[in-house]
Amino acid sequence: MHIQEIDKTYVANTYDRYEPVFVSGKGSLVYDDTGKEYIDLASGIAVNCFGVADDAWIAAVTAQLGKLQHLCNKYYTAPQAMLAQKLCERTGMKKVFFANSGAEANECLIKVARKYGHDHHGANCSNIITLTNSFHGRTMATLTACGQKAMHKDFGPFVPGFLYANANDFASVAALADENTCGILMEMVQGEGGVNALDAEFVHQVASLCKQKDILLLVDEVQTGNGRTGKLYAYMHFGVEPDVVSTAKGIGGGLPLGVCMMGAKTADTLTAGTHGSTFGGNPVCCAGALSILDRLDDKLLADVARKGDFIKETLSACKGVSGVSGMGLMIGVALADKKASDVAHACLDAGVMVMTAKDKLRILPALNIPDELLKKAIDIMKGIIEA
Ligand SMILES: *Cc1c(COP(=O)(O)O)cnc(C)c1O
Repeated sequence: MHIQEIDKTYVANTYDRYEPVFVSGKGSLVYDDTGKEYIDLASGIAVNCFGVADDAWIAAVTAQLGKLQHLCNKYYTAPQAMLAQKLCERTGMKKVFFANSGAEANECLIKVARKYGHDHHGANCSNIITLTNSFHGRTMATLTACGQKAMHKDFGPFVPGFLYANANDFASVAALADENTCGILMEMVQGEGGVNALDAEFVHQVASLCKQKDILLLVDEVQTGNGRTGKLYAYMHFGVEPDVVSTAKGIGGGLPLGVCMMGAKTADTLTAGTHGSTFGGNPVCCAGALSILDRLDDKLLADVARKGDFIKETLSACKGVSGVSGMGLMIGVALADKKASDVAHACLDAGVMVMTAKDKLRILPALNIPDELLKKAIDIMKGIIEA
């Protein structure tokens, strides 16, 4: 049997997969089992920050793998402590909890917000406001947090205490915020929702409402984080100071790692026994993450911004493109006539891996994609969109 048939027979039907079977890669080039080469503009949904089979990451991961692959979180291990220190030093956050995925990082963020509300404002202070079109994960609490009705279909009953406001509509947030609100959760650039950045004014209004009412400002940086938008974290473009930040995807460079960072207000909210994870902050994943974080320096971040500008300029001048959105190397492309999924399939046939988000194309290359490969891939996309 072909891999496709075995997969279709035995793997749960949750993914509408593309046809090729991928076997290997290097950097931003990936190969399928026929030897065909592809330029990767998806990086595993913003996960492979430095591409496939990145030498420095492999060295960091394998060195740790040969020493100690796992111990339970009742014991100290160096990679976890050092990663937490570096994250705090670079963000100003005070403490870190490690999990294994974006959804789990958000579960922690939700628990921190609820416990902070209970500790400071009583047991009724448990509501969390999220935004329409948001995406926060697939577990029951994070699924409830998603402001997308279509995702909720057939999975009720939901976790109580989530309220939905409209993105970029401050009045709709203010109308829901009261003494029972413990947090307001948002993505600075909504990824799955269609690569839409929030308006700076809206973000500032929400941040000042949070300060004024002692509501926690909760930022989901699972997709936008770790250099993706041209800053280490996307909130840094907006000049706000979140109380809790979650991240995952890119931080592990391809191994599962979720991070929940707590600021000054919430640093001591979680206490011994109130949260935990068997695998969270695994030494191998943390060693890999240290190698990623160490290389997300100013030069690399400036390069991310420059490459993003190149994509935006090239594609917004393209016939058949009705709009280009996003920040840094997280870009959405709205099409005038063609269907994004048709274009994504045609790109794959032509040797370019590109994603979709809602009715847009979504471009999320490795942060270090070489200029010539990026140009080649965007030219191929352009040809297909204009055809
Ligand atoms: C991907 C994503 C998640 C969920 O992450 P998983 O690792 O798939 O659980 C949560 N929030 C945002 C913004 C994401 O993009």
